[in-house]
Amino acid sequence: MTAKVSTRKFDVVIVGAGGSGMRASLQLARAGLNVAVLSKVFPTRSHTVAAQGGIGASLGNMSEDNWHYHFYDTVKGSDWLGDQDAIEFMCREAPKVVYELEHFGMPFDRNADGTIYQRPFGGHTANYGEKPVQRACAAADRTGHAMLHTLYQQNVKARTQFFVEWMALDLIRDAEGDVVGVTALEMETGDVHILQGKTVLLATGGAGRIFAASTNAFINTGDGLGMAARAGIPLEDMEFWQFHPTGVHNAGVLLTEGCRGEGAILRNANGERFMERYAPTLKDLAPRDFVSRCMDQEIKEGRGCGPNKDYINLDMTHLGADTIAKRLPSVLEIGHNFANVDITKEPIPVVPTIHYQMGGIPTNIHGQVVAPKNGNPNEIINGLYAVGECACVSVHGANRLGTNSLLDLLVFGRAAGNHLVAADLGKRSHKALPADAADRSLARLARLDNSTSGEYAQDVANDLRAAMQQHAGVFRTQAMLDQGVAKIAEIAQRVKNITLKDKSKVFNTARIEALEVENLIEAAQATIVSAAARKESRGAHTVNDYGDTPAHPNGRNDEEWMKHTLWYSEGNRLDYKPVNLKPLTVESVPPKVRTF
Ligand SMILES: Cc1cc2nc3c(=O)[nH]c(=O)nc-3n(C[C@H](O)[C@H](O)[C@H](O)COP(=O)(O)OP(=O)(O)OC[C@H]3O[C@@H](n4cnc5c(N)ncnc54)[C@H](O)[C@@H]3O)c2cc1C
Repeated sequence: MTAKVSTRKFDVVIVGAGGSGMRASLQLARAGLNVAVLSKVFPTRSHTVAAQGGIGASLGNMSEDNWHYHFYDTVKGSDWLGDQDAIEFMCREAPKVVYELEHFGMPFDRNADGTIYQRPFGGHTANYGEKPVQRACAAADRTGHAMLHTLYQQNVKARTQFFVEWMALDLIRDAEGDVVGVTALEMETGDVHILQGKTVLLATGGAGRIFAASTNAFINTGDGLGMAARAGIPLEDMEFWQFHPTGVHNAGVLLTEGCRGEGAILRNANGERFMERYAPTLKDLAPRDFVSRCMDQEIKEGRGCGPNKDYINLDMTHLGADTIAKRLPSVLEIGHNFANVDITKEPIPVVPTIHYQMGGIPTNIHGQVVAPKNGNPNEIINGLYAVGECACVSVHGANRLGTNSLLDLLVFGRAAGNHLVAADLGKRSHKALPADAADRSLARLARLDNSTSGEYAQDVANDLRAAMQQHAGVFRTQAMLDQGVAKIAEIAQRVKNITLKDKSKVFNTARIEALEVENLIEAAQATIVSAAARKESRGAHTVNDYGDTPAHPNGRNDEEWMKHTLWYSEGNRLDYKPVNLKPLTVESVPPKVRTF
C-alpha cells in the first residue's frame, strides 16, 4: 500500500462530539491534557442537539424526590437487565452533574423561586412506583440543544482541539491487544490520518439508522460499534431497541415524552384514553416499551385512527396555547411542519418509532471497555473507553427510561474524564504504533476505489433498513427473527460488494456513505442474531412466542435469561455474562413482575 498517512499524537483521542464526548473532553482539557475530538459533523449538530424532553435528576424541586426512588425506577424500567452498581452510581451522581451543568451556563427553565423546572416523565415515580414524580430537568423542549451548546462553549474555553468533518475509520490495536489510536478520513481532502493516543474514547452515539423509521439523525450509523466489532470487541445486549411511543406518523420525527409529561393524552379511534386500562397508576406515563406495545395492540385490535386505522392520536388540545408555546415550542412547530396539524386545536397522529439502542460497547462505571478474557467476563481492554449511547455500562438494561440518556452522557462522560485524569496520562509515553496500523482502513478504501462493478451503498442500506424494520419491530416472533437472521446475513454479503461510482477525493459523500454501511451491517447483525437467540420477552425485546405464563409472567424468564448478551462479529457468534444485581452501597432491588 503506497498511500501516505500522516500521524498526530494526543494524550486522548475522542471520537464523537455529542454530549458524552464533549463532557469527557471538557474534564480532560480542563486538566491540561492534550485532547483531540473528532466529529463527522460540526459538534453542535451531533444528535444530542435533538434531545427535547429533559435530564433526569432527583433534585426534588417540585415534588418530593430522592435518588433511591430514581434508582428503583431505573432498575424496574430496565426489566432487571441493568447492572445495579452502574445504576446506583448514575442516580446518585445525577443532581451533581445537573448543578454543574447549570453552573456552566445551561439555560434551564425556571420555577418562580429560581430553581430548575422539572416535568414528569415516563416510568419516573415517587415512593417506589406510587405516583408520577417531577424529575426531568428541562429547557423547554430543547434540552439537548441547550446542553450541547453549553458543553461546546465550555470546551472552546478549555481549548479542546476539534477535528470537524473527520470520520474515524478503525481502531488501532497493538500486538498485546492494547488500543493505541484510530485511523480517520479527512472529508475535505479524502486523506487518511492516524491519530495516536495514549487512550481512545469512543462517543459515537447510536445506530438508529439501521431501521427504516427512526427518530435518529442520518449520521447515527453506529460507527463506534462497527469499529469495535471489527477490532474483535463484543457488542452487548444489542437485541434491545427502544421504540418511542410518539414519532409523527409517516415522518418519524420525535414528539417528546415531555408532551405527556405536560399532560398530553393518547387516544384510540373511539377517543378513549386507553392507557388507563393497561397502566392504571401511571397511565400515559408508563415506560416506553410498555406504552409502545399498548399502542400496537390497540392498532392490531382495530382501534387505530385514520382511514387505514394505523395510528394513535396524541391529544394536547386541553393544555392551552400558552403552556404549549412556553413548554413545547418545538413540538408546536413540528406539528405544523411534519403533520400539518395545529396541536393547540387538534390531536396529532403518532406511531411507535425506533429511537434508542440500549446495548453497545461493554464498559465498567469508569467508562473502560471490558470484554471476557481468561475466565474474567469484564477484563479491561487497555487504552479504550466508551461513553454515551454507543456504550453499554449497563444502566438501561432492556428498556431505558426517558431523560436517563442525557444523564448517562453527563455522568459517565465526566466519570471517564476523571478516571483518565487520575491515570496521570501526561506523564506516560505513547505506546508504539504497529507497522500495519493503517492497513485495514487503507484496504477498505482501496477496495471501494478499485471496484468497477457491484451495488450502490444506498440500495444496500435501504434493503438493510427495510429488513430490520420488518423483522425486529415492536412485537417480534421467533419465526420473524429467524428469517431476519438469514436476510441480514445475505445483505452482509452484498455489503462486501458495494461499488463507488464517483471516486473523487474532495468531500466525496458517497464514499462516506459506503463506509457507514460497513458499520450499519455490524450493528444490524449484532441486533438480529442476539434477538433471535434470546428465547424470552424482556423490556423492549417482546417475542409473541414467549408470552405471559404463571411460571414466567410477561414472558420474562429470569432463571435462564437474566444475563447480558455479547455478540462477536468474527464468526457471528454469541457469548453471555451475568447481570450485576449488587448495587454499590444499598440493597439490591429483587426482580418482580412489572406493572404500572
Ligand atoms: C430526537 C431525540 C430526542 C431525544 N430526547 C432525549 C431526552 O429528552 N432526554 C434524554 O435523556 N435522551 C434523549 N434522547 C436520547 C439522547 O439524546 C441520545 O442518546 C444522546 O444524545 C446520544 O449522545 P452521544 O453523546 O452518545 O452521541 P451523539 O450526540 O449522537 O453524538 C455522536 C457524535 O459522534 C460523532 N461520530 C459518529 N461516528 C463518527 C465517526 N466515525 N468519526 C467521527 N465522529 C463520529 C458524531 O459526529 C457526533 O459528534 C433523544 C434522542 C433523539 C434522537
